[in-house]
Amino acid sequence: MPIHVVRPSMPPLDEYIEEIRPVFENRILTNMGPVYMKLREQLIRYLGAEELSLFVNGHMALESAILALGLKDEGEKRGCGEIITTPFTFVSTAHAIVRTGLRPVFCDIDRSDYCIDPDRIEELITPRTVAVMPVHVYGNICDVSRIESIAEKHGLKVIYDGAHAFGEKYMGRGVGCFGDATVFSFHATKVFNSVEGGAVSFRDRSLYVPLRELKNFGIRYGETVESVGGNAKLDEFRAAMGICNLRHIDSSIAARKAACERYHERLDGVSGIVLTRPRRGVEANYAYFPVYFDRALFGRTVDDVFAALRENGIGSRRYFHPAVNDLDCYREFAGAETPVARDVSQNILCLPLYEGLEADDVDRICDVILSPGK
Ligand SMILES: *Cc1c(COP(=O)(O)O)cnc(C)c1O
Repeated sequence: MPIHVVRPSMPPLDEYIEEIRPVFENRILTNMGPVYMKLREQLIRYLGAEELSLFVNGHMALESAILALGLKDEGEKRGCGEIITTPFTFVSTAHAIVRTGLRPVFCDIDRSDYCIDPDRIEELITPRTVAVMPVHVYGNICDVSRIESIAEKHGLKVIYDGAHAFGEKYMGRGVGCFGDATVFSFHATKVFNSVEGGAVSFRDRSLYVPLRELKNFGIRYGETVESVGGNAKLDEFRAAMGICNLRHIDSSIAARKAACERYHERLDGVSGIVLTRPRRGVEANYAYFPVYFDRALFGRTVDDVFAALRENGIGSRRYFHPAVNDLDCYREFAGAETPVARDVSQNILCLPLYEGLEADDVDRICDVILSPGK
């Protein structure tokens, strides 16, 4: 039996049918209908967020958060404003910055948590800097207090890409409470999915209307067009999938946790293998199981391990490889070298992790990794 790198969580079919039955009666298919509103309320409670706006995916939520905070207006001309971010992320983070007319400035990461290195942020700040966009990589929570004190000192906004951090708490607070906004992804492959979907959580209530307009053609309360918006609404069918998956999220995370613990039992202390643990104070969601291979000590490269796993019917993912600033389409934004991000991106592999991955599966995966092959 092949083992895939991810397998989306799905509710029992009957549960989904019950959830969409009202949609077949009222024929409200989209446009922030009752199922959308119900999911929003439930997520506000689950995430411990103050305010939440749902989107068709995490990427459009990121773009909309940037625009809703008015960051585009800060520069003198289009493309002028800069956002300091990490190159060790999914391309969506940087794409959102470029596609909203701003410039990404890549800051190196901290080797201990793979998140943006707070010690390197200030040297990148220029008069054009408008915001910092850190990523809670693999569900490791960034050093939010240092990042936010730097941002405050320099008058910068902070938007967290929390696509990996669904449901996590840090120091007892939902991760969506930090910064000016936090963006979540509900893509099929994430800890919580609504097939496709996403959200922006925020504290400043005045962002509610701009976010709503950005995802619905700039229309205010179904009547007048007040601004230039796109279309990024979460429809009722996806919202219903979200409601069903949210019902099972705690057991889903518990199953991920058990798989991670098994990985740790097998891989902790192996020479040449570096594993991460969540920062102290993080209530983790066990989103990913990244393994850094030190090729000198381990004797084999990430490519060797990837190939050996594949020969045994096991998927894994070089996530994130390459670093965003090593992509050809980012050449014009490459800026200063980010050696830690490059090294980590070249030597890290995410192992299979999903609800339903059993201890036996983890053993099979670890047997391949630990067998002295090539
Ligand atoms: C998945 C992901 C996104 C994009 O979310 P979508 O819902 O797929 O659009 C953005 N940033 C990171 C770090 C992600 O992992």
